Amino acid sequence: MNDLMPAKALVVLSGGQDSTTCLYWAIKKFAAANVSSITFDYGQRHRIELDCAREVAALAGVENTVLPINTFSAIGGDALTDAEIAVSSKVSEAGLPNTFVPGRNLIFLTFAAAFAYPRAIENIVTGVAQTDYSGYPDCREDTMRALETALNLGMESSLSIHTPLMHLSKRETVELASELGALPAMALTHTCYNGERPPCGRCPSCELRARGFAEAGIDDPLVRKS
Ligand code: ZN
Repeated sequence: MNDLMPAKALVVLSGGQDSTTCLYWAIKKFAAANVSSITFDYGQRHRIELDCAREVAALAGVENTVLPINTFSAIGGDALTDAEIAVSSKVSEAGLPNTFVPGRNLIFLTFAAAFAYPRAIENIVTGVAQTDYSGYPDCREDTMRALETALNLGMESSLSIHTPLMHLSKRETVELASELGALPAMALTHTCYNGERPPCGRCPSCELRARGFAEAGIDDPLVRKS
């Protein structure tokens, strides 16, 4: 960053609660005019996520680019991209639920960095968190720091990966969203693993979201609206 050019930021926007909170965090830190968003069409079974991301970005007044990277479903073996596999809260021997898409965040962030490079964007913001989650190893702080180092070595860049939610509980994430004025956008987000709208309220993702709002003492505008 130098004095002449404003710092620009790219938010990885999935259309869910966490990435929407990150979008508003980035707007506060970098100003809306310097923020853009990227959404990955990775063959997810819930196409509604792409609409949600577009609507959230439009409400926040930032650009949204959808990048097609439809390769995960060809790899198969996870419940988020393989229509043959039902979402389950059961965990594998490695302690991971079947919603784990191996390497997903590494690939997302690598594409985000490649997208950022020609646009002189030096900040990438992602909603990964190692607290309260399903234990996805690609959401952890040490993974993010190692990836940032690898990307900067591989592109001779000075990219920063920002993870504002890394150590926040779901309750704290809801409180942050409220402080940032992101609650109206929450009505447009999508979190349900079963792809239902209004949300099913039963899947692990819905339960986690509901618990976060309940603990924060804040009504979820998505649920209230429905
Ligand atoms: Zn659900």
